[in-house]
Amino acid sequence: MSLELSKKALAVKPSATLAITAKAKELKAAGEDVVGFGAGEPDFNTPDNICEAAIKAIKDGFTKYTPASGTNSLKEAVCKKFKDFNGLDYKPSQIVISNGGKHVLTNIFNVILNPGDEVMIPAPYWLSYPEMVKMADGVPVDVITEFDNEYKATVADFEKAFTSKTKAIVLNTPSNPTGMLYTKEELEAIAKFAVEKDIYVVSDEMYEYLTYGDAKHVSIASLGDEIYKRTITVSGVAKSYAMTGWRIGYCGAPENVAKAMSAVQSHATSNPNSIAQKATEEALLGPQDSIAMMKKEFDERRKYMYGRVSKFPHVSCHEPQGAFYVFVDANEAIKLSYKGEKVNSAARLAEILIDDYKTAVIPCESFAADGHFRLSYAISMETIKKGLDRIEEFLNELN
Ligand code: PLP
Repeated sequence: MSLELSKKALAVKPSATLAITAKAKELKAAGEDVVGFGAGEPDFNTPDNICEAAIKAIKDGFTKYTPASGTNSLKEAVCKKFKDFNGLDYKPSQIVISNGGKHVLTNIFNVILNPGDEVMIPAPYWLSYPEMVKMADGVPVDVITEFDNEYKATVADFEKAFTSKTKAIVLNTPSNPTGMLYTKEELEAIAKFAVEKDIYVVSDEMYEYLTYGDAKHVSIASLGDEIYKRTITVSGVAKSYAMTGWRIGYCGAPENVAKAMSAVQSHATSNPNSIAQKATEEALLGPQDSIAMMKKEFDERRKYMYGRVSKFPHVSCHEPQGAFYVFVDANEAIKLSYKGEKVNSAARLAEILIDDYKTAVIPCESFAADGHFRLSYAISMETIKKGLDRIEEFLNELN
């Protein structure tokens, strides 16, 4: 034996976005006026009524272990939310509450995959999916999508990537990083395909409340009994309720899947935080006005950001319909030169922006989107304006 790390651990890529974020933090600490477009979380505080519920839970002594997969009262609140918002009928025995959406997803891959099973992931994707699949001994398979189809995968795309080892599809709507939503018709076609092939759909709907304009969120599991039986619907309170630090995510799943996830979780982490569970109950069942306020603010920033970025030279983007990101295709920009040197990649573009313009953007190579970068509008309007001025100035320098 040796002290070598496991093959599994060595195969996991550390987050490539960290380098830019770390540099931005370093510059900020040194007193520089840095604009950070990297934010993956709302800039609002958790609403007061939710915080009060947590304080009450502490004072009431609700500070002990709960059932591993969450309290029954929170599972009932989640069922009500699934019914009212998503049109989905789940029983409490089909609900698992975990330590954030990430934990829900890692549990899912751990219970549905055997070594070598393949999971189709439409690319560009949120960079954690392939790493999570690998950690569960699965094989992530990129399903490449097109700008012209708003970066959404079609049945034809899935057909091409499908093999006898395919076990699941990951869907993410609204999408991080693209901000796009699948329509009901698109989901119906994918549902038919998943049922025909008899594979799971892991539907990550973390940003479901954050949709704008005419865009309407649809849960694939609501499209018929057969697809419902094959879908695990994932959501959480992090993004919609400004609760990223509380670490609560949940899913609705076929009963046997929920039971297996609950068993895995009972050995790995036991229950999610008891106080955060009480806070989540209040988030789901209490007044929703602060959510509406946050959404309105995001929408104003979204319109402003899209309005400007869509007119910038050498880049293009779609108008985002959900989440809080503008996804920028900079393939033309990176073919140009900056100070006599060809830019060449989104990673280099991001490096120039942080070094020379004190502006942090997320280069998307590790989202399987070479030549693209992501801008978050989960920051103040004033900061967005300043940062976009800087990016525009940089793009005008390219030749
Ligand atoms: N799914 C998507 C698409 C995300 O962007 C994120 C967070 O960035 C998550 C899931 C995980 O959320 P949580 O903070 O609840 O773990």
